[in-house]
Amino acid sequence: MTKHVLPPEIAAEAEQSTILVRGGAMRSGFDETCEALYLTSGFVYGSAAEAEAAFKDDSQRFLYSRYRNPTVQMFEDRLRLLEGAEACRATASGMAAVFAALLCKLRAGDRVVASRALFGSCNYIITELLPRWGVQTTLVDGRDLSAWEAAIGREVKVTFCESPSNPAMDIIDLAEVARLTHRAGGIFVVDNVFATPLLQKPLKYGADVVVYSATKHIDGQGRALGGAILCSNDYLKNDLGQFYRHTGPSLSPFNAWLLLKSLETLELRVERHCRTALAIAKHLETHPKVTRVLYPGLPSHPQHELAKRQMALGGSVVCFDIAGDKEACFRFMDALKIVDISNNLGDAKSIVTHPATTTHSRLKPEERATLGIGDALVRLSAGLEGERDLIADLDRALAEV
Ligand SMILES: *Cc1c(COP(=O)(O)O)cnc(C)c1O
Repeated sequence: MTKHVLPPEIAAEAEQSTILVRGGAMRSGFDETCEALYLTSGFVYGSAAEAEAAFKDDSQRFLYSRYRNPTVQMFEDRLRLLEGAEACRATASGMAAVFAALLCKLRAGDRVVASRALFGSCNYIITELLPRWGVQTTLVDGRDLSAWEAAIGREVKVTFCESPSNPAMDIIDLAEVARLTHRAGGIFVVDNVFATPLLQKPLKYGADVVVYSATKHIDGQGRALGGAILCSNDYLKNDLGQFYRHTGPSLSPFNAWLLLKSLETLELRVERHCRTALAIAKHLETHPKVTRVLYPGLPSHPQHELAKRQMALGGSVVCFDIAGDKEACFRFMDALKIVDISNNLGDAKSIVTHPATTTHSRLKPEERATLGIGDALVRLSAGLEGERDLIADLDRALAEV
């Protein structure tokens, strides 16, 4: 005995803010206000015949939480409505989402083209794991459409990118990469973590699959790992469904419950993150100890026009070069009194990272140079603290440089 908290015919037309609070929620016979947490691994059957029928057609009921779970399904349905996708599968982490989204589609002999500016673990999957399994992979400068065209050639199975990219804030023309991919018979997978489901809708630009690390803005409060794959019913039926069911990247119902509650405040948080990030970016641009600021929402960003077309706001991450070297960056970071040093992002707490010695330390120095990740680069994830306090903290620390 469950019923939709938001009737499906209203959900289909509802505003984003309404979906974030009510979309996908199912109320049990107890009429609870808050989404219920179904912390169970399995489900029981009234008879052996019912179990037999359930295994023949599991679309009407739950069998086992590795496949589907009511709390996880509420999270999947809310995200699916938000993204405008036909289907969603939630995963235990963002990397489980990336891995499953790519691997369910690929076999030995296939070709993959991806942008070079990738999250470290995505880079590992593309450049180390896939070649080991006989998949040919090519990395391109994601900003260069002629490089995409040349690498995609006449036939490609999957193309993959993140936009904005981490940490150089490259913007990739999603509509054009989708067009080139489809012309060559492939599917286009977009890692939309930096943009969040609110600021950029890759499916609208022709992407076939969107992946998230829900660990970042969706949780946004440093509590839980999670991820999600958004796709078409066909992709779920032909590629992802069985792969997901039998390899077990499933999200825990407890984490799904946390993430469902987080979605209720996502819009408020993301708007605030973006407002603070823009104010910080503008301030740093005028600071004598800062030599370069990379933020898609600034007119000085080399791809500002494309960012404005594709994204509603500039995002929560600002990257900048400090006048000096690695030592200068470390002095700056160590002098911060509010902003934390950590490698997470999209959190309520503001965070700085030195990519060259942490998230991107696995790359060779030449590779980092190609990606614009120098020793002077700092990545700042603007949190939800007061804007004046954050700017004062940055100024105080820059004075130590
Ligand atoms: C964090 C992140 C991931 C991986 O997500 P996890 O939840 O940490 O596994 C993938 N892509 C991008 C762009 C990220 O920022």
